[in-house]
Amino acid sequence: MSIDFSLSPELEAIREKTRDFIDNVVKPAEANIVPDDRKSLITAIIEMRTEAQKRGLWLPHMPEEWGGMGLGHVELAMVQAEAAKSGFGPYAINAQAPDEGNMHTLLHWGTEEQKEKYLRPLCEGRARSCFAMTEPEVAGSDPTLIRTHGYQDGDEWVINGHKWFISGARGASFAILVCRTEDQPEIKQAANSAFIIDLPHDGWNDVREIETMHGGTGHSEIVIKDLRVHNDQMLGGRGQGHLLGQYRLGPARLAHCMRWIAQAEMALDMMVDRSLNRFSHGSLLAEKQGIQWMIAESTIELYQAKLMVLHAAYKIDRKEDFKSEVSMTKHFVANALNRIIDRAIQVHGALGYSTDTPLANMFQHARWARFADGADEIHLMRTAERAIAAYKDHGTTASATGSLPI
Ligand SMILES: Cc1cc2nc3c(=O)[nH]c(=O)nc-3n(C[C@H](O)[C@H](O)[C@H](O)COP(=O)(O)OP(=O)(O)OC[C@H]3O[C@@H](n4cnc5c(N)ncnc54)[C@H](O)[C@@H]3O)c2cc1C
Repeated sequence: MSIDFSLSPELEAIREKTRDFIDNVVKPAEANIVPDDRKSLITAIIEMRTEAQKRGLWLPHMPEEWGGMGLGHVELAMVQAEAAKSGFGPYAINAQAPDEGNMHTLLHWGTEEQKEKYLRPLCEGRARSCFAMTEPEVAGSDPTLIRTHGYQDGDEWVINGHKWFISGARGASFAILVCRTEDQPEIKQAANSAFIIDLPHDGWNDVREIETMHGGTGHSEIVIKDLRVHNDQMLGGRGQGHLLGQYRLGPARLAHCMRWIAQAEMALDMMVDRSLNRFSHGSLLAEKQGIQWMIAESTIELYQAKLMVLHAAYKIDRKEDFKSEVSMTKHFVANALNRIIDRAIQVHGALGYSTDTPLANMFQHARWARFADGADEIHLMRTAERAIAAYKDHGTTASATGSLPI
């Protein structure tokens, strides 16, 4: 019997080290950041990243030959779930979106020259990147509708189109841009190709940072006008843009879930702490059944979230097909996160609604989890398709529920 949820002493040490780093380096550095003061932000980032490298907490998701910790996805889950207890944690260890997903993508799809030129500086923390796929005019949920278009002109491609919600575009030294290059593909999923675009670049116009419900936080709208890029900048082959996007999304979705576990755990900790300190109608909130049920439901959901993340990560590590597990996990964890933070706000009352605790900010951030990187409805649709197909093929839905040995 090989199911074992314990960590080896070496991994337990890494977890402890991550926790210590977040508590004693990242959180204090974060506290010194003065709003709207770029200098204090840069000082804090340099301090955190220098210390992360010194402590060997750098690139947990990358192989050692790229300067990483060489962890598998199960091990990565444990590091991310500690690191994301601070908003800056993943960034401090150079494992933040969208760079993390772009690193995986470049490692898998890049030529040797592309890896040296783009992956190396990303791994060394000398560069940042962005991933440009979503467009305002068509459903981001269906990348076969992408309209940004490239045509070949000699050794170059000329690209025109419109992208938005491109995270980290300002400050990125390159973008991975997905556009339509094939007018009559054999299948609609073979219409797009990906290109690496050095930034800034003629024809790449960052027209605004979109204001969101959690402020203006670095998601750009890009108008692309007659952008010329050499054929050598294509990432992957012609018509492989859709495949590359899907390949990137699997582990990237799960990495989001790992970070959301940290946020959900923080919310649950705060919910319990508040219930132990707030007195009303003759007893502490913690002694009231209505509050206990909120705590219990959140605890059960967080337990489910952790198990699902660990199992999906285990499937990735074993190079088994992980699509359905990652999809179900992403749906569940995103929704559990929203419910748990919402309950924590409820237990805090007006304090939870104020910005005196981190809960309001956490709630605003959590909302996008339900539609970005695959909307709830898409994951439900795919999950139902798989369950129906499993039943039709095998007379049972068992293989659609994680192929677990029960
Ligand atoms: C904070 C943030 C950061 C982001 N960063 C990036 C980035 O760096 N790069 C990038 O390219 N994109 C990025 N995005 C965009 C994100 O990937 C898209 O929002 C997502 O893919 C959904 O696309 P959409 O917004 O066009 O919604 P749509 O595709 O228009 O979907 C809207 C809603 O319609 C429903 N829906 C859609 N299709 C179906 C269906 N088949 N069945 C049932 N219901 C359906 C769902 O309820 C869905 O929520 C980011 C978004 C946010 C909020």
